[in-house]
Amino acid sequence: MNPQKRIAIYGKGGIGKSSTASNVAAACADEGYNVMIIGCDPKSDSSITLLGGKRIPTILDLLRDGMEIEEEDEVVFEGYKGVKCVEVGGPEPGIGCAGRGIIVAIQKLKKISQSMKEMDLIIYDVPGDIVCGGFVAPIRKGLVSEAYVLTSGEYMPLYAANNICKGLSRINTKLSGVICNSRSVSREEKIVSKFANEIGSELVAFIPKEQIVQDCERDGYSVLEKAGDTDIAEVYRTLARNIMASDCAVDPRALEDERLRELTR
Ligand code: SF4
Repeated sequence: MNPQKRIAIYGKGGIGKSSTASNVAAACADEGYNVMIIGCDPKSDSSITLLGGKRIPTILDLLRDGMEIEEEDEVVFEGYKGVKCVEVGGPEPGIGCAGRGIIVAIQKLKKISQSMKEMDLIIYDVPGDIVCGGFVAPIRKGLVSEAYVLTSGEYMPLYAANNICKGLSRINTKLSGVICNSRSVSREEKIVSKFANEIGSELVAFIPKEQIVQDCERDGYSVLEKAGDTDIAEVYRTLARNIMASDCAVDPRALEDERLRELTR
């Protein structure tokens, strides 16, 4: 049996981490892998497209309501092709720490979940950029073994991606690849590919901007489920295969800001 993969996809808020994570989860499930997706974003949007638009209770909300969570099926829900979906939830605005909340919730999950051990792939859909110690907590606690960074060819997402690389090297964590979620910027594939090469990594997927992704999301489905015969579904399938086959990770070398600006000019 192959060792369990535990990946996290980092990137600027709003860049498409949840839709990438859920489509990769669906593509891996299609290939017969046992997959769990752990959504750590307060908006709970990682699992919703794997559950036909249904929202599930978050672990932190249940804990805050004083519930004793003892059974796995109180927080682990089965979605498309058996993908196990969990939502951690977020802190109440103004109080608490998102990173700390993730750790509390996942420690609880590990205690009660049998199926977590049986997964081939666990995807952590983590919020925002790595800007603080809190957000890298899943890596520091050994929950995540492979990190990917998602960006577009625009300056701000690249800036965030570069910062994430700084954070990863500071905590001695390797980067398994860069994924481009296109915003239809000119020369985008070239820009992101160059960025990936210059930090010592590689572009593992270029996801074109397609309205169908938003349409499927709005209807509460992954692209793989609702539009499985489209070209974009094939892009997610290839990305999923690359992730499952990847055994190469590097220490990312973040770029100077001036170089980053040059790349996008
Ligand atoms: S450490 Fe990070 S996650 Fe925690 S409260 Fe501060 S900014 Fe938020």
